[in-house]
Amino acid sequence: SPDGLPALTAATTAELDWREDDSGISPHSRAFDDVYFSRHDGRAETEHVFIAANRLPQRFAAWHEQRPFVIGETGFGTGLNVLCAWHSFEALAPPGARLHIVSTERYPMSAEDLTRALAGQPDLADKAAALIRQWPAAVTGVHRLVLSPRVILDLHLGDSSERLALLDGLVDAWFLDGFAPSKNPEMWQPALFAAMAAHSRPGATFATFTCAGIVKRGLKAAGFTWRKVPGHGRKREMLAGEIDTPPDDTGRRHTPWFLPPEARPCRRVAIVGAGIAGCSAAEALARRGVEVTLIDASRPGSGGSGNVQGALYVKLAADTNHQSRVYLGGLLYSQRWLARLDPEQRLWSPCGVLQLGANEREARRQRRFLDHHGLPHTVVRGIDADEASSLAGLSLPHGGLYYPLAGWARPRELCEQLARTPGVTFVQASIDSIEPLEDGGWRLVGSHAPKGDHSSVAIEVDQVIVAAAYRSADFSQVTGLPLQAVRGQVSRAPLALEAPAPKRVVCAGGYVAPPLDGVLTFGATFAPGRSDNDTLDEDHQANLEELDRTLPGYLDQLRQAGHPLAIENLDGRGGVRCASPDKTPYAGPLPDQPAWLRDYAVLAKDATRVPDVAGSHHPGLWISAAHGSRGLASAPLCAELLASRICDEPLPLEAPLADHLHPGRRLIRDIVQGKRQG
Ligand code: SAM
Repeated sequence: SPDGLPALTAATTAELDWREDDSGISPHSRAFDDVYFSRHDGRAETEHVFIAANRLPQRFAAWHEQRPFVIGETGFGTGLNVLCAWHSFEALAPPGARLHIVSTERYPMSAEDLTRALAGQPDLADKAAALIRQWPAAVTGVHRLVLSPRVILDLHLGDSSERLALLDGLVDAWFLDGFAPSKNPEMWQPALFAAMAAHSRPGATFATFTCAGIVKRGLKAAGFTWRKVPGHGRKREMLAGEIDTPPDDTGRRHTPWFLPPEARPCRRVAIVGAGIAGCSAAEALARRGVEVTLIDASRPGSGGSGNVQGALYVKLAADTNHQSRVYLGGLLYSQRWLARLDPEQRLWSPCGVLQLGANEREARRQRRFLDHHGLPHTVVRGIDADEASSLAGLSLPHGGLYYPLAGWARPRELCEQLARTPGVTFVQASIDSIEPLEDGGWRLVGSHAPKGDHSSVAIEVDQVIVAAAYRSADFSQVTGLPLQAVRGQVSRAPLALEAPAPKRVVCAGGYVAPPLDGVLTFGATFAPGRSDNDTLDEDHQANLEELDRTLPGYLDQLRQAGHPLAIENLDGRGGVRCASPDKTPYAGPLPDQPAWLRDYAVLAKDATRVPDVAGSHHPGLWISAAHGSRGLASAPLCAELLASRICDEPLPLEAPLADHLHPGRRLIRDIVQGKRQG
């Protein structure tokens, strides 16, 4: 990829030997012939080398609530360093302070090995359990784990230098780990130190167990100062140091319009729109201690997110593209997010999704996809018709792709639950305008919406997220952003308990989910440009025909079993979703469109003359919209993206993917192509 994104693929899992002596059992890397931590006193070594030498106890004790303290680590390994840092933070940092850890790992362990490696730390058992519960599939890329309301871990799977170069975020303290330079010379390269320097806050510290010349020279060349300090145990020396003036390299020299806006106060944030985009953003911000006012003219989950049951799945392009990466990252994040919010699986089910190769073209596309990516089978694998039939519990004529982690959720109930998150106040009101305040905040003006009460409302906040789907464009700051209404109707049929039914979500053109509370949901229609939401018989008919194509013979089977599906018995719901022209959601700051048209006008004449001007934004105004019919997979990750930006934290996606979601991407393209002028 031209912006440095390495292939999306399976990460190679670490191969270990377990070595045992009187002090216990510990992992040893076969490939590197080196230890993960010292068997005798690994814990004390971590405390000495990484925690104390970075002065973390003092810094944690003095930390504040404005933004999280950020640790960057090369080589996550068993996670011992991270769990120790978390332990120390919890013991020392004031309440309200938060910790954010970014850690790279090229050869992630299997969950079983991780469990075994951490079993020797009984006082870290709860923390290890939280880590293992969310341990991601071995897919290259960023995986955000919410370890506790105060602690986030972003695992960047892949090579350290490559991954840190793609990071959008700044670090306060580095744990420069990784096997010894003599055993792993590939990692300790100038590119690694340069990437660390470029992602350091002024004054960021580092500590490392090694004193190798290549490390000293590399750190110095990148701008770090180092000193030798006493090592742990038998090791005489190690290195610690800092970087006072990191290089000013945001990686966006060629795309200055994507430069993030400066951090601003974010104590109070309003969110307009209580669908899955707005409600997930509310949860993400409230978890960070932000006071959230969530506003909607109707109850939470009433619009496009109002279905009783919806499929949690994605359709990935055969070739790696940015959109597929966002959606796959989103699916994996949503799965962890739902598991954390609802461990009892009342509101969702990871029952698995079958994507059928129902015609030759789609089957060919799926084969290309499988050849191209080589993703782990725990994420997606190819299956034949027999396996598909056995998974679905129905006879299917086609095989396809199987996503074991995907499934379905109850979007409406989910929105209702999210709107009740502590720290979120739901206000039922219709907002007419968002007006700037002199002190830099915003006033939302409108009227109360509950029946009979139309009194006016004015809500003043520091920042605002617009998450009102296609109605977002009603606000003057959003007008001009291409958003399209797409009508979609699902059909619902009561199904007798003994009637045959799919055991997984099955999709081809549309989808059908396993029955929920005795009702079979299938659909949905897709009518771009329409914003009517009545339930229509013609749409039921279209859904029945699609169901017949997806599960050939199923309707006959139901009829023969005495449970025919007829339009008269169908219930359903018409909804209006919102899409962007390129089908990628918008998640990011709202561009000041006239300023962009002025500042970047020269690009229409010569696209190589990139002005040295950062993109101008409505300060503190954000959008999360255009999630189409895949909001369950995209909205929660976009919510994290926005919350991370607003709270000045590292992002849960690589910088090029954050740019891909940027609401200004179409505008800049149109300016370059001469389609929009000031
Ligand atoms: N910090 C770890 C802990 O707390 O358990 C121990 C780290 S172990 C000594 C070194 C780790 O670096 C291994 O997990 C190894 O797979 C990883 N590693 C080696 N080369 C790497 C590279 N080029 N990029 C990312 N990780 C790498």
